Amino acid sequence: MALRTIDSLGSLAGKRVIVRADLNVPLQDGVISDDGRIRASVPTVEELLGLGAAVILISHLGRPDGAPDPRYSLAPVATRLAELLGRPVAFAADTVGEAATTAAAALRPGEVLLLENLRFNPGETSKDEAERRAFAALLARLGDAVVSDGFGVVHRAQASVTDLEALLPSAAGGLVERELSVLERLTTAPERPYAVVLGGSKVSDKLAVIDSLLPRVDTLLVGGGMVFTFIAALGHPVGASLLEADQIPAVLGYLERAKELGVEIVLPEDIVVAERFAADARHEVVAADAIEGSRFGVSGIGLDIGPKAAERFASIVRGSRTVFWNGPMGVFEFPDFAFGTAAVARALSETDGFGVVGGGDSAAAVRALGFEDADFGHVSTGGGASLEFLEGKRLPGLVALGWE
Ligand code: ADP
Ligand code: MG
Repeated sequence: MALRTIDSLGSLAGKRVIVRADLNVPLQDGVISDDGRIRASVPTVEELLGLGAAVILISHLGRPDGAPDPRYSLAPVATRLAELLGRPVAFAADTVGEAATTAAAALRPGEVLLLENLRFNPGETSKDEAERRAFAALLARLGDAVVSDGFGVVHRAQASVTDLEALLPSAAGGLVERELSVLERLTTAPERPYAVVLGGSKVSDKLAVIDSLLPRVDTLLVGGGMVFTFIAALGHPVGASLLEADQIPAVLGYLERAKELGVEIVLPEDIVVAERFAADARHEVVAADAIEGSRFGVSGIGLDIGPKAAERFASIVRGSRTVFWNGPMGVFEFPDFAFGTAAVARALSETDGFGVVGGGDSAAAVRALGFEDADFGHVSTGGGASLEFLEGKRLPGLVALGWE
């Protein structure tokens, strides 16, 4: 392991410490709909303040296109963070420009500053290493050390996650440490049966993990937006549902591979099909192989797994000793399409085994549905990061902190 931790940074009294957090919270019309990731970042900030440091928080929010976009401003996060910390949080309207530089220079021990969205800058996510380095070098001028605590992004080779860590004395924060200790339980001799439940909307990202997960699990349950690429691969039309047609050959490969390995891939037998993508859309339940047979024909959109599927998924989850779940089973933000997600969440909260929920939207979903973090073995702030860890990948943001 050998991840560098905060104590390896020596005395931080009077130092300016940059904290790369993951404050990428869901926003609806500028209002934070779930503050779980902000809460998760608080202990490390408090720890550093307690050590006499000044804290400069940096984060991304959403996927803006490398340019300022007010819809993705972190300003509302500064307000919420100040409430949670019970102290003022200054906010700088840029990341490495005049505002940030001035605010960082004025920061005193015990004070907290949040900079604007890192991804307003093309260097943050650039594929060009020199461009990332150049942006990281500007960030590095703001502080004396960097603590990497944004677990949700440690699988990304991005300026603030890897390059900055190479330029300043760097260490993992407590959130990253805690997340890793849980995930190690899932990779080092997990109790069997071991099931992974996948859903959500980042279809191609998540399809890519299946290949390396298959040899590790007993059962793979597939719901959410990715299910339609499976249904289409089996030769059934999916109407206007989320479909990544170019992934069909890959999906056929996974189905074949699962058979060889004796791993069961469980697909929903029924689907809730809606007339359109809206909270109040008319909808009906149809068999998964008859989506276009609904009264909405080819324009019907699958927005949830059906009740029979929900029951089957729940029973497999309840019967497993280890479960990792990433990605909502349906568009849970609309109450009419939250049934599948709620059924899986309930089963996971009831299982005697070790159940982990991972992913920004998945964690937000279980909380929105009235569950508490304590109802599960663990609620992780990272979806993609957790999945890639479970696949056995070396995550660049951890390698940058000394992980082997
Ligand atoms: P996570 O953040 O937990 O990793 P994702 O970001 O991949 O999960 O996906 C979350 C989103 O997936 C939710 O906003 C949800 O509405 C959406 N989703 C789930 N099922 C479907 C579906 N059938 N069609 C479209 N979107 C879906
Ligand atoms: Mg998400």
